Amino acid sequence: MTLKELVVAYFQYPAIIAYLLLAVVGIGLWTWRPAPLLQTAASIGIAVLIYPLAWYSLHRWVLHSKWMWKHKWLAGTWKRIHYDHHQDPNHLEILFGALHTTLPTIVIATAPLGYLIGGFGGAAIATATGLLTTCFYEFCHCIQHLAYKPKNKLILMMKQRHMAHHFHDETGNFGITNYFWDRLFGTLYDRVSERSKSPTVFNLGYTPEVAETYPYVADLSGGVATGHPVERLRAKMKG
Ligand SMILES: [Zn+2]
Ligand SMILES: [Zn+2]
Ligand SMILES: [Zn+2]
Repeated sequence: MTLKELVVAYFQYPAIIAYLLLAVVGIGLWTWRPAPLLQTAASIGIAVLIYPLAWYSLHRWVLHSKWMWKHKWLAGTWKRIHYDHHQDPNHLEILFGALHTTLPTIVIATAPLGYLIGGFGGAAIATATGLLTTCFYEFCHCIQHLAYKPKNKLILMMKQRHMAHHFHDETGNFGITNYFWDRLFGTLYDRVSERSKSPTVFNLGYTPEVAETYPYVADLSGGVATGHPVERLRAKMKG
């Protein structure tokens, strides 16, 4: 896939279209009952600032948690929103977040703060900001998983860190576009030589042994896959 094909695929993806439409709705609601200029700017600002922290926390303590696979009613969601992505990192169809989990999260992370700052208009514009930031995150994430070398140094660095999260040690580099919180919490690493290779980088700790006790994810996945995704793909194509 080329960058141009990626852009086309990106704008056709239902969740992206939904975010963009809902952002327009948010801006529309703000126009209908606007907050004063200062409160509007502050609501946008707080949404932009809180977003990387919300993402970091979710990625580290929810998506990489070891409790979601233990509950039958959460196992399917966990599989869909993160296990599958780590099992097969370059598979585009599961690259994007699932709308039923992302949408409530975006609203909860942004609307209350916007409301405190600027009432109804503040909540509307903060939510719209959260939705547009999500589009930006998803786009960067796509680029990181596309097989090409970015020319821009900043994007290249983002990509290398995220690739290390996928292929070297999943317990670091939780940010996608913003690594401030990784730096602060000590989970940032730039060189793979800084850390040893994690044996759970593709299964996130959901091993065949764990599956014996908590089989829900394995049941949904047709077993527990082991080994490198690329080798698994090759074996599948041969057989
Ligand atoms: Zn990824
Ligand atoms: Zn596919
Ligand atoms: Zn991850």
